[in-house]
Amino acid sequence: MQNQKGKVQCVNDEILEKLALKNRYKFLNYCLMSYLKPEYMDFLKETQKFYVRFEKKHNITHNEDFYEWIPEIGEQGLITRVNNFKEIGLNFEPYGMTAEFMRILATDFFDPQLAMGMGATVLAVNPLMLHHENVEIRLKALKELVIGKKIGAICITEPERGSDAVHMETISEKQSDGSFLLNGVKIYQTNGPKADWAVLYAVSEKDQGNTMGQFLIDTSWDGWKAERVEIPWTPRLHIGKETLTNLRVPPEYVLGQPGQGRSHLFEGLNLERFGIVILNAAEAWNALSHAFIYVNMRKQFNQEILKFQGVGFPLTDLWAETMNLTLAALNVCQLIDDKMKEKGTLPKEFNLALGVTASQLKSVSAKLCERVAYECANLMGGAGVCDNTLMHDLLGITRIQEIGGGTRQIQQYIMSYALRQLFKVI
Ligand SMILES: Cc1cc2nc3c(=O)[nH]c(=O)nc-3n(C[C@H](O)[C@H](O)[C@H](O)COP(=O)(O)OP(=O)(O)OC[C@H]3O[C@@H](n4cnc5c(N)ncnc54)[C@H](O)[C@@H]3O)c2cc1C
Repeated sequence: MQNQKGKVQCVNDEILEKLALKNRYKFLNYCLMSYLKPEYMDFLKETQKFYVRFEKKHNITHNEDFYEWIPEIGEQGLITRVNNFKEIGLNFEPYGMTAEFMRILATDFFDPQLAMGMGATVLAVNPLMLHHENVEIRLKALKELVIGKKIGAICITEPERGSDAVHMETISEKQSDGSFLLNGVKIYQTNGPKADWAVLYAVSEKDQGNTMGQFLIDTSWDGWKAERVEIPWTPRLHIGKETLTNLRVPPEYVLGQPGQGRSHLFEGLNLERFGIVILNAAEAWNALSHAFIYVNMRKQFNQEILKFQGVGFPLTDLWAETMNLTLAALNVCQLIDDKMKEKGTLPKEFNLALGVTASQLKSVSAKLCERVAYECANLMGGAGVCDNTLMHDLLGITRIQEIGGGTRQIQQYIMSYALRQLFKVI
């Protein structure tokens, strides 16, 4: 039931009851069951069961500060499933991109803004996985993020350097004891004001990407100031503007020395972008699940509105396109998982191809989820745009997906560059 969410009830009791999380999950499961291997279907259902119980146990209205839920979710191993965390004593099964897809689907249906916030912690986990070098404090930070004890953020964007992320202005100055002093400003960091750990990039010479380093930051240190940037379309997500003033980073927190930061920044980018694709697919399914139930129950002119072609047919188009995106994304997830299982890493050629595929799917999925959320809301009439259901959250969040993780034009730039490179080899 979601009837606690809105201030004034607009949707009738019967439909609200049917829009319950467990029924929306059922719709998703029936759509996907023929395409998922049993271990993933089981994991999806297990995660869904957790969220259904969680919602009931805490009487959740989705108006709460979702950051407070993270420790309990983390205890279940549901912050990230991208990696195998055996080396830090955690044995979560299944893991890999397909498992991550399932985790995100279940989380997004429960609460889309929570799913997006958790995604930024995953972005801080990935570089620590690659560069902990068994240093105690890095392993500690990694574990705390994976089990949800702490929240993570990744700091790339600056007020004057957005799409042109490599030419940074934030300066790192190496000290004689191997520590670094950081000065500069970062902006639009998901989780920024809530983060306990941040992974941040800075250069030793302004605008010189080849002098970039990568730093792990404990946000309780002196010299870190985080302010909240309000993005009205995602009112419960905390986005930050961080000012670094002589912030001292001890040597054991330096994940990449000047010169290594740039390749560290790019090495995880494909999978990070792919994470956004999955998030977009989950948001589209979430919107579809609402519209599917609503238009099957809502009557006008003595008929369920689904039966009017003007409602039912456009919904089928949105469903078909979302299924297309899902099958494409599942296929890529499976390929990534197979390669990782076989080789323990992604082969160079495959990773190059994945860069373009991630851009293709990111741009298509960002556009699609925005359209699907809007059209589903539209098919639900007033019920789709009032605050009684998560449609309201979905309308907001899908409007920003083209920007984060590289804007539409940057994805187009990557793709058109690839077309040029392809032309040179034919
Ligand atoms: C909700 C949200 C969450 C975010 N989370 C994070 C985060 O966790 N960490 C982080 O570091 N950053 C984060 N960002 C920042 C995000 O990555 C940047 O906003 C994005 O890269 C664009 O930078 P910008 O906002 O400065 O826009 P600009 O780069 O100024 O772009 C403005 C416009 O110009 C276009 N443009 C720029 N260059 C070109 C070009 N060469 N060709 C064609 N068009 C171009 C852009 O596509 C865009 O339309 C987040 C942003 C949002 C909105």
